[in-house]
Amino acid sequence: MDPSKRLDVPLPSESLLLATNNPGKLREITRLLNECSLSVFTPKQLNINLDVLEDGSTYPENAFLKAHAFAKAGNCLALADDSGLEVDALGGKPGLFSARYGSSELNDLGRVQLMLRELEGIPDENRNARYVAAVIFVWPCGSYRVFEETWEGSIAHSPIGNRGFGYDPIFVTSDGRTSAQLSSDEKDEVSHRGKAIRAALQWLVD
Ligand code: IMP
Repeated sequence: MDPSKRLDVPLPSESLLLATNNPGKLREITRLLNECSLSVFTPKQLNINLDVLEDGSTYPENAFLKAHAFAKAGNCLALADDSGLEVDALGGKPGLFSARYGSSELNDLGRVQLMLRELEGIPDENRNARYVAAVIFVWPCGSYRVFEETWEGSIAHSPIGNRGFGYDPIFVTSDGRTSAQLSSDEKDEVSHRGKAIRAALQWLVD
């Protein structure tokens, strides 16, 4: 898949379907699209109930699989985010499997605790990590445009903060706070998702 691929597709009519059921992502993406000129719909608002098998081998491939399924179901432009947390000391894991790290039975807190256990005894200088996001627009015909961004940080020794979702309580940002301690605006400004969605919106108006 060529991330820079740009097809000659007509600009979308005014509807955009968000191809995710993850409440944390939905909250952030809706916020980030707040000022865009499109009418943004969640799957629930369109009565679309899809659970897409994410069996791609890259973030853009998984993002495509999700957005294309939703775009066809809603017959409109769809936007998906496939993202993950890559921890150097874990060889880049959980990466693509961040949502299912450990077991799909675990909740966010369970996954955070598992990661802290796996990193026990690892010193600060070896706890580097990054969030990665591939945000994609996909049209029902399968044409797409993808935007990838990262956010560098490290993994804390215990959870701090109660904002955000997922691994945010243990993702330490450049100013020493975890991403769960940042306000929404602060996170959107620097996050992988914030940067990718801004690039996507800029492309739409260019
Ligand atoms: P997926 O894109 O649906 O496969 O899920 C990505 C997973 O990566 C989420 O369920 C979270 O566990 C994690 N993740 C991605 N972005 C963030 C973030 O901004 N904060 C916390 N966790 C994140």
